This record gives sequence, C-alpha cells and structure tokens, in this order.
Amino acid sequence: NEVLQLQGITKTYHKGAPGQIDVLRGLNLTVARGEVVALVAPSGAGKSTLLHIAGLLDTPDAGQVVLNGADLTGQPDRTRTTARRRDLGFVYQFHHLLPEFSAAENIILPQLANAVPRRAAQARAAELLDHVGLKPRADHRPAELSGGEQQRVAFCRALANQPALLLADEPTGNLDPETSDRVFSVLMNLVRDTGLSALIATHNLELASRMDRVLRLEAGQISNA
Ligand code: ADP
Ligand code: ADP
Repeated sequence: NEVLQLQGITKTYHKGAPGQIDVLRGLNLTVARGEVVALVAPSGAGKSTLLHIAGLLDTPDAGQVVLNGADLTGQPDRTRTTARRRDLGFVYQFHHLLPEFSAAENIILPQLANAVPRRAAQARAAELLDHVGLKPRADHRPAELSGGEQQRVAFCRALANQPALLLADEPTGNLDPETSDRVFSVLMNLVRDTGLSALIATHNLELASRMDRVLRLEAGQISNA
C-alpha cells in the first residue's frame, strides 16, 4: 500500500549537448502509507529535480509517477494540478507565508481554494495551530512571528487540506540548530498524530535518523543509507 511510487525515473538536462547532465538515471523510490522517509543528497545530486517530479511540478523523460493510487505518467497538466492540490502538501526551507495575512488566514485560504466552507476551514486552522502550540498567535502576521513560529505555521498550511503525502525540502534548514531541533520535533509529532506520509529532504543526519527510513540520492539513483 504505497502512497508514492517512482519507477525508472530518468531526467537529463541539455540532452545531446556537450554539457549533458544525466541527473536521474532509472531511479526507483516508494513511500508506504503512514511512512516517513528521509532523503539525503549531496548538493547537486538532483534532490530538487526529484522533489519537483514527485511534486508533479516537473515531468521525467522516462519512468512512472504513481501518487495515491493514480498513475499520473503522461497525464495532462490539469489532471496533475488537481492531484497536486488534493494529495500533496509542500514545505520549504523558507516559509513562503503571505505577509499581509494572519497565521490563521494563511491556513484558511488554501482550504477556501479547495471549496472547504469558511467555518470548517477556520476550525481546522485553529485545531492545527493549537497542535503546534501557536493558538495565541493565530491573528499575528508572519512578520510578527519568530523564524521557528513562521515555519510551524507553514507546516499547518501544508496539512490544511489533509494531503496524502507531505513533501518537505530542508524544512528546518533556515533555523539555528537548537530551534531546528525543536521545530523538527513539532513537525514529526504533527505528521505522526495525523498518520501522514512524508518524504523529507535534509542534510542533517541526526534528523534523518529520527525517520522510518533513510534514502540516499547519489549518481542518479536511490540507495538505502
Ligand atoms: P540539488 O537540488 O541536489 O542541488 P538539482 O536537482 O537542483 O540538484 O540539480 C541537479 C543537476 O542538474 C545540477 O548539476 C544542476 O546544475 C542541473 N540542473 C538542474 N535544473 C536544471 C535545468 N532546469 N536546466 C539545466 N540543468 C539543470
Ligand atoms: P495554488 O493551489 O496556490 O495555485 P499550485 O497548484 O500552483 O498552488 O501549487 C501547489 C503547490 O505546489 C503549492 O504548495 C506550491 O507551493 C507548490 N509549487 C507550485 N509551483 C511551484 C514551483 N515552481 N516550485 C516549487 N513549488 C511549487
């Protein structure tokens, strides 16, 4: 029972040119339902390329992408966009919150875009904020929050529409080590308590070791670390 299956994924940049880069070379990767998988990759190994393909933002040259039971290989953009909005949550190194909206509104808006009624969206935002210890900060704008608090709001936003899979790229990479450690624990608790599946890229091997499985991306393929 897999939530994400990547099979035989290849991606080449500048194909046929002298500077051809074979970033991904027949890569296989699966995330089981409820599993939290760490992705460790040296810089330039193709981590961003892989996350963009898994996130349905880019297409591979060859190979299969199956998300939450749906084979999205070769599907039109609107099908992939629908799948992305319904099944995926994203967290990045920087929070990317909307600066003119409060913490709660940042979590409510993606739900309204998904046709969730306002009352239900408000309730879910309040519940998520409470879960990450930010109930008293619901009406604060991002600029009024600390880096760790901003990132916790970003986690809530990623989970707002109850995605099947969370894709995270260095989710605490912009925080000092101590804050990173604390905020990462908040993320792990949130993921565990909601039974969410996650693929989390990190350079931090200590954080990686707290996940169910650690995968290494190297030479365009995945190996167990
Ligand atoms: P990482 O995130 O692991 O640093 P990337 O996936 O960003 O790696 O890039 C992997 C390799 O592919 C790098 O050598 C990079 O220069 C190259 N690359 C990435 N995106 C493009 C692109 N759009 N066009 C050409 N080369 C690219
Ligand atoms: P929206 O539903 O706000 O229109 P999209 O459907 O465009 O958003 O994107 C869904 C998710 O994919 C968002 O969480 C967004 O952060 C992420 N995303 C969209 N485009 C990119 C991109 N070029 N690079 C990285 N992430 C992206």
